[in-house]
Order: sequence, then structure tokens, then C-alpha cells
Amino acid sequence: MSDVYAQPTTGADATDMSALAGYTTLRMGGPAGRIVPGASAEEIVRAVRDAGTRDEPVLVLAGGSNVVIGDDGFPGTVVLVRSRGLRVVAEDADTVTVRVEAGEPWDDLVAATVANGWSGLECLSGVPGSTGATPIQNVGAYGQEVAETITGVEVYDRAEGTAGRVAAADCGFAYRSSIFKYSDRWVVLSVDFRLTRSPLSGPVRYAELARALGVEVGDRVPLADARATVLRLRAGKGMVLDAGDPDTRSVGSFFTNPVLDRAAYDLLRARAADIGEPPSWPCPGDLVKVSAAWLIDKAGFGKGHPGPGGAAISSKHTLALTNRSGRATTADLVALAREIRDGVHARFGVTLHPEPVLVNCTI
Ligand SMILES: Cc1cc2nc3c(=O)[nH]c(=O)nc-3n(C[C@H](O)[C@H](O)[C@H](O)COP(=O)(O)OP(=O)(O)OC[C@H]3O[C@@H](n4cnc5c(N)ncnc54)[C@H](O)[C@@H]3O)c2cc1C
Repeated sequence: MSDVYAQPTTGADATDMSALAGYTTLRMGGPAGRIVPGASAEEIVRAVRDAGTRDEPVLVLAGGSNVVIGDDGFPGTVVLVRSRGLRVVAEDADTVTVRVEAGEPWDDLVAATVANGWSGLECLSGVPGSTGATPIQNVGAYGQEVAETITGVEVYDRAEGTAGRVAAADCGFAYRSSIFKYSDRWVVLSVDFRLTRSPLSGPVRYAELARALGVEVGDRVPLADARATVLRLRAGKGMVLDAGDPDTRSVGSFFTNPVLDRAAYDLLRARAADIGEPPSWPCPGDLVKVSAAWLIDKAGFGKGHPGPGGAAISSKHTLALTNRSGRATTADLVALAREIRDGVHARFGVTLHPEPVLVNCTI
């Protein structure tokens, strides 16, 4: 299988191989103390343990599509997750459970499940990165989240020095969150997904996807149609990695959609009364999720809005902050993120929070 993850350039125009910019989709980040690839679960655990023995901080990095690494880099060991493989570990007449190594490229997995007639991941087509990173922030898109199909996660627990399995119920899955996010305690080694044997997708939940498929919300469609349509919609928003499209030099959505209680939501509606109703979705617990893209746009930061150093809002999607110029630094991107966060707060009284993991930088 090809290596689809970002790699530093080699050859005549070789970049500094220790620069983490070469390993991230933003193409940003300073040098690492050392970089150790792990081609199997055993190699990954060994590299993490060895660094621990040397008292070095450890950064586990896979596809680099959800991290913002500071210009000073990371003063420790970066373990690259490059393990591969998947196998069926349980099956019955209706379902198949696949165990997937952490470094398996996510979209290769989705493509394989669609080809095999296993339903459950099709709307997550085109999300960059590795399979092992999907539980970290409960990856989701177009009405599907990995929490719906993950049954367990095999982890190396750095606090205990042991490997074991965390059942899905104990993963603390929530909107773009889990117990693994912002914790360096667990290294994900493999993930189990239980999928349904069906040529059809689950009920389409996302209105934009249903419209593009020409069906009603709640209908099912052939798996390959769901995948192709999601890929087309994502590409139109710069949300599928494409070396020729500088709008995809990003981490996808930079901010999560804010989840507000009733009082905060009413306040927002009052402050937005002159421009219209903020797009929103009801959440359990009388909470309301609000579109961060709408808030950003209405606060005056439209598509293409420039930041310092060639950092800019994507010309295709208000939520993606990009290194469009290819020369922006992390400081430039962070300055743009602050400008947007502060502008949205001043206009609407709502605080935006970053979705990616920030490493040696802060907004
Ligand atoms: C164009 C684009 C579109 C995107 N669209 C979406 C989307 O629709 N939905 C969505 O949810 N996300 C989206 N993302 C974000 C990103 O692709 C996902 O979060 C993805 O799962 C990150 O995988 P990765 O392997 O690149 O993780 P990395 O960026 O390498 O790591 C992210 C975090 O997870 C940790 N980590 C990674 N692997 C492991 C492991 N094996 N064990 C322990 N910790 C680990 C890292 O330490 C870091 O904290 C998008 C990103 C881009 C660039």
C-alpha cells in the first residue's frame, strides 16, 4: 500500500528532515528532537517506551492532519504511526467486526468497506489521516461519527506501561471529543469497527448530502453512491487533500461548532436579530449547536480573508484556515485564528474553540 501521509521533500531540494512541517497537512511546525517511525504496534510501543526511559516528551503523530505544531517544533521524540493492516475478528449473518491497525490510512479503509458491502463508514469518505486517530476526536462528517461503529480501541497505557482494550462505552465519545483527546496517556494501536452487511448506506441524516443524492433525509442509498457524493461535496469545499489545491493545506475545520445552553443561545439570537437566524441543531440536555462557519462569516471574515504571512481563510470554506501561500508560519496562522475568535466574540458574544490539537503553540 502506498504511503499517503505527508513526507518531507527529499532529493536536490531536500528540506530539513527534522522539520515537522514536512509531516503535517498545514506544512507548518519547527524541528523535532528526534523522529522515530513505528511500522507495527510493537515498534510504536517500543519507541514510546524508549523515549519514556530517556525522560523525553513524546508526540504521537500519524497523518498530521489535525495538529498545529509551533514554530519552535517539539523538543522530544515524535513517534510516527505507520502500522498497517486489517482483519475480520468477528462476523455473523448481519455484521462484520474489523480490527484495523492505527496507521492504516482512513480513506483506504472506508474504500475497502464500501467495496466489501459493509455499511457504516461511507459518509466519512475523504477524511484525511489515519484510522488510529479517528477515536481521538470521534471523527465525524455528513451525519456519521466513528463512535457509532467503534466497539473497542486497543491502547498502550503510558501511565501503567501496559497494553489493553478500552470498550467503546469507556471512550467518552462526544462531539469531536473522547478521553483520548488532549491526553498523552494512551497510544492507540488498533481500532475495532462493527459494520453492517448491506449494499445500502445507513439512513442519510445530513440535509445537504440528501439533496445532492436526490433523496429525502432518512433514505438509504447504495454505498458507492454515498461515497462518491460525499467525496464530490468535500472536494468542492477543499476538504479532500489535494497537493494541487492550496486550500487543502489546512487541518479541515479550525473551530468546532459552539454548543450553547439556552441562555447563551437566546443572547446570540438577540445579537444576530438584524441579520437572520443562526443555523443551529438541537443537542441532548437542552443544548444547541450553532454553525461556527456562519458566525465567522457574519462577523466579517469571509472566504479568502487574508491573515499575516500568507495564512488565509480557505477560498472554499469559511471554517478552514489555510497555509495558502505555503510560506506562512504557525505564528501567522495563530494570529489569524485569534483575530477570528476575538472578532466573533465581539460581534456575537460566543467563544470559538479550536478543533485541532495545538502542540507547543496556543491561540
Ligand atoms: C482537508 C481536511 C479535512 C478534514 N475533515 C475532517 C472531517 O470532516 N471530520 C473530522 O472529524 N476531522 C476532519 N479533519 C481532521 C483530521 O483529518 C482528523 O481529525 C483525522 O482523524 C486526524 O488523523 P491524523 O492521523 O492526521 O492525526 P494527527 O494529526 O497525526 O494527530 C491528531 C491528534 O491525534 C493524536 N494521535 C494520532 N494518532 C494517534 C494514535 N495512534 N494514538 C494516540 N494519539 C494519536 C496526535 O497526537 C494528535 O494529538 C480534516 C482535516 C483536513 C486536513
